[in-house]
Amino acid sequence: MRFFEELDLTDLKDSIVLLDLDGTLVPDGQSDISERAMRKVEELKRANEVYLCSNSRNVERRMKVGRQTGLAFTVEGIQKPSEKVVSFLGNISKPIVVIGDKAIIDGRLSRNLGAKFIKVRRKRSEKDSLFTRLVYWLDDFYYNIFSHI
Ligand SMILES: [Mg+2]
Repeated sequence: MRFFEELDLTDLKDSIVLLDLDGTLVPDGQSDISERAMRKVEELKRANEVYLCSNSRNVERRMKVGRQTGLAFTVEGIQKPSEKVVSFLGNISKPIVVIGDKAIIDGRLSRNLGAKFIKVRRKRSEKDSLFTRLVYWLDDFYYNIFSHI
């Protein structure tokens, strides 16, 4: 499995991309996106309609990441994996692709939307809280069981 910045995006175009933040662009709760990840965001934006899609409610951080990437977030207050995260788009005429690190959140969102899921290798940090580590462990457990059925 590849980190976001290692993804091969050559076949991904003319799609609506819902891009996860925590664990995908940055380690959990962090705001500074690496140069490599930013280059990948730019590559993604050139050929697709891209939205950040995060369950984080930290408004300041959302604004900071939005400024850095030039990307808008899906509507705040609607949480993944609800398919309503794209309700603001109205009629959707393009294929949707979800890029994220969590099977339980991003993977289920893609299923709810009938979208393609690109699961990335998770960005971890020694600053990850015990709770975050537990959630990751559960998510990996879920993924390892259900991705093979
Ligand atoms: Mg995530």
